[in-house]
Amino acid sequence: MLRIAIQAKGRLSEQSIALLDEAGIVFDDSKRKFLSQSNSFPAELLFLRDDDIPQAVAMGVADLGIVGYNEVLERGQQVDIVDRLGFGACRISLAIPKGENYPGLFYFRGKRIATSYPNILGGFLKEHGISAEISVIAGSVEIAPTVGMSDAIFDIVSSGGTLVSNGLVEVEKVVFSEAVLIAGKKLTDEKRKILEQIKFRFNAVKDSRGKKYLLMNVPNEKLEDAIRIVPAMRSPTILPLAQSGWSSLHTVVDADVLWDKIEQLKEIGAEGILVLSVEKMVI
Ligand code: ATP
Ligand code: ZN
Repeated sequence: MLRIAIQAKGRLSEQSIALLDEAGIVFDDSKRKFLSQSNSFPAELLFLRDDDIPQAVAMGVADLGIVGYNEVLERGQQVDIVDRLGFGACRISLAIPKGENYPGLFYFRGKRIATSYPNILGGFLKEHGISAEISVIAGSVEIAPTVGMSDAIFDIVSSGGTLVSNGLVEVEKVVFSEAVLIAGKKLTDEKRKILEQIKFRFNAVKDSRGKKYLLMNVPNEKLEDAIRIVPAMRSPTILPLAQSGWSSLHTVVDADVLWDKIEQLKEIGAEGILVLSVEKMVI
């Protein structure tokens, strides 16, 4: 039995549960307390605030955790980063009021910077030889300059919309983050085995994301052109159709080039093109 800590409520909770679910590690949501056991996999979930997850894993209260890399970095706890999970992307950036001249990092000398990430910011400033005052604020960091609490901020940015609406401009991107899977350093062999299983399943889910399964009928003389348009993992599957002179071609493509490929395939005479979702992919 392995205990996995995830964010109880917030930006990472839903996607953490969805990833586990797609990996066949299913939890009964209706009975959601602070601990919840899976009936499909030897694991239980511990619901915590994201800030507490790195420590819970470092202490062995949980064996694994799903949390933003930004929190792992800020907390400085001794944990292993096992995998990047491909969601919760954001960055932590320095931002200053719009209209200010920004000559470079030395702008921050002697300034007061509001943040919820004092350790990351402190390390960054030190590394660049800048001495500034760090003012720790737990929430709504972006309003600090407007209300006169600071000259600048160091905060999470994803689309940048919040900065703009608070009259701020991002001037330095310091850390790029996404949700990561973390593990304690002292897992037993039995737990490591379950961890390997989870990693394998997570990768199959991640690899299938953004992929589409494509099947179509192609005149035999156009098969080579079709394969040039949609090369597959190894090579596309080609099956003869009952009607002579035609084949069925099956392959997997990236969703972002799907329409492009379909148009090219139609041009060379492909017909009956079907697009299906890919649920898992084991490469
Ligand atoms: P908790 O109550 O668990 O302490 P929180 O308010 O600290 O929650 P959330 O706002 O739910 O945290 O964000 C959780 C994580 O989501 C962040 O630590 C970060 O890794 C990621 N994230 C992605 N995009 C954003 C964003 N635009 N703003 C804040 N966090 C983001
Ligand atoms: Zn938090």
